[in-house]
Amino acid sequence: MKKSFSVLIIFLLTVTFVFSGCGKEEQSSSGASSGVSSQVAAEYKDPIKGVQAVASKDKIRNYYEVFVYSFCDSNGDGIGDFKGLTSKLDYINDGDPNSGNDLGVDALWLMPIMPSPSYHKYNCTDYYGIHPEYGTMEDFEEFMEEAHKRGVEVIIDLVLNHASSQHPWFIKACQEISNDNNWDGYARYFNFKKSDTKPPHWWLVTGTDDVYYEGNFHGGMPEWNLAADCVRDEFKKIMKFWIDKGVDGFRLDAVKYFTQEDCTSTEFLKWLYPAAKEYKEDIYMVGEHWVNGADVIENYESGIDSMFNFSYSDSGGKFASAVNMSSGAKLCKTLKEYQARIRENNPDAIDALFISNHDQVRSATYFGQILEKEKMAAALYMLFPGNSYIYYGEELGMTSIETDESKRTPMIWSTTDKTGITELPPTIVNDNIPKGGGVAEQLEDGNSLLNYYRRIITIKNQNPEIARGKIIKTIDFDDSEVGAFITENDGKQVMIVHNLSGESTKTLTLTEEMLKNPSICADLVASGKPQSDKDAEHITLTDGKLVMPPYSTVVLKAK
Ligand code: CA
Ligand code: CA
Ligand code: CA
Repeated sequence: MKKSFSVLIIFLLTVTFVFSGCGKEEQSSSGASSGVSSQVAAEYKDPIKGVQAVASKDKIRNYYEVFVYSFCDSNGDGIGDFKGLTSKLDYINDGDPNSGNDLGVDALWLMPIMPSPSYHKYNCTDYYGIHPEYGTMEDFEEFMEEAHKRGVEVIIDLVLNHASSQHPWFIKACQEISNDNNWDGYARYFNFKKSDTKPPHWWLVTGTDDVYYEGNFHGGMPEWNLAADCVRDEFKKIMKFWIDKGVDGFRLDAVKYFTQEDCTSTEFLKWLYPAAKEYKEDIYMVGEHWVNGADVIENYESGIDSMFNFSYSDSGGKFASAVNMSSGAKLCKTLKEYQARIRENNPDAIDALFISNHDQVRSATYFGQILEKEKMAAALYMLFPGNSYIYYGEELGMTSIETDESKRTPMIWSTTDKTGITELPPTIVNDNIPKGGGVAEQLEDGNSLLNYYRRIITIKNQNPEIARGKIIKTIDFDDSEVGAFITENDGKQVMIVHNLSGESTKTLTLTEEMLKNPSICADLVASGKPQSDKDAEHITLTDGKLVMPPYSTVVLKAK
């Protein structure tokens, strides 16, 4: 008697709770009996809450590409610097993978930091220094210490293809040739040749009428002779210098142009990568070879950890077109094949995935600043195996136009408080304020792009097998808009399903052959309200039926 009475109380309380919790529309449109069961089923508990995240101890990382110039200015001269960057490390990673208080990336790629006459610094005059506007070597060392304290690894841009035409050795080389016809001094370090006519991408040495130097980008960027022993000896010294400063690896600029008459890019990397490993066994190296396909795959023969996956990036790349065309199934199949191919050349290959970088139009721009698409793209590229690279400001939805400078504008920390915000690079007039506001505003908005990125990274840190796995199969749901695959690492399987439709909710039937006893361990819904909001649309899994709202992603594990 007493028992049945309390059951009745609980029943009445439940009904009251359910009805007070649902929206007006549902109250008026649904009858009591049918309404109760569907609303009880919809009750939502955030699956990522309380799950422990672990800090990475290996080379598999979430990278954040930073242009120091535009990130944070500490001394009011309008130019970003190391003290400014150090002051923002807590935004990047506060050192506690479970704090929920930071972006959560655990590695930084710094665009060039060495002294250079250009604002972007991709042509340096001294490979052993810090550009004075960025601060001192002590500032850099302090930054490295603070980054490492937080478990954040740092790789720096290493521009080995070319120097600045103001590099003292290049100036000396030109003088030796033009004054003394001496080709045995500094001339050995660069690519010079005699020619009756000007070869394309070669530039006349001042004071001569038939000596040219190679400069594939422009005359201000003379190219090193990568086949010369004297150059390689110097490069070893440079790598050792920065490794001794604590850097965890290098991003290699312009790998495409490593190929010269007597040396291919892969041959050069076959020398460079082991040479760096002599100084640091666990060094991480990622190369920029901006072409599609075969050459990049060949570069992996050198043993290099990563090569940027350019054909999936940018406005015309495979991630953008998958989102814009809602072609999830095709994307997963293609990427599975690509990753298998790079592992044929290097079994330890780590794919380097991104949607935009400092040379490309910002992703928010090519997604038309449509928040749901930006979120969908982020979940898509970051949840494949490999290392993901977020370009600073991408997590805010910063925009750009076609010019290089517009792709590298100041990080927007706040739309009202200018503290730390740098001045625009030369010649730029637009300031690219993201639609959702700056960091301060987006942190306050549970539905912001920034909070979506934070959730994705939390999910990756809670489930280390996502990034470390190999795609063992793709799952065909007979729906081109749905992309699904299973990754495996150390015998642990994870299934990831994306609904790339912007309009349709998908109901998918899961079978035992796909994954045994699947349960949802993480969910991401790009449309509508913050995930934690009980009135938001949610992904559900009931009796093998997976229901996914438009632009959503789910991570499933075997129970
Ligand atoms: Ca400054
Ligand atoms: Ca944290
Ligand atoms: Ca070259």
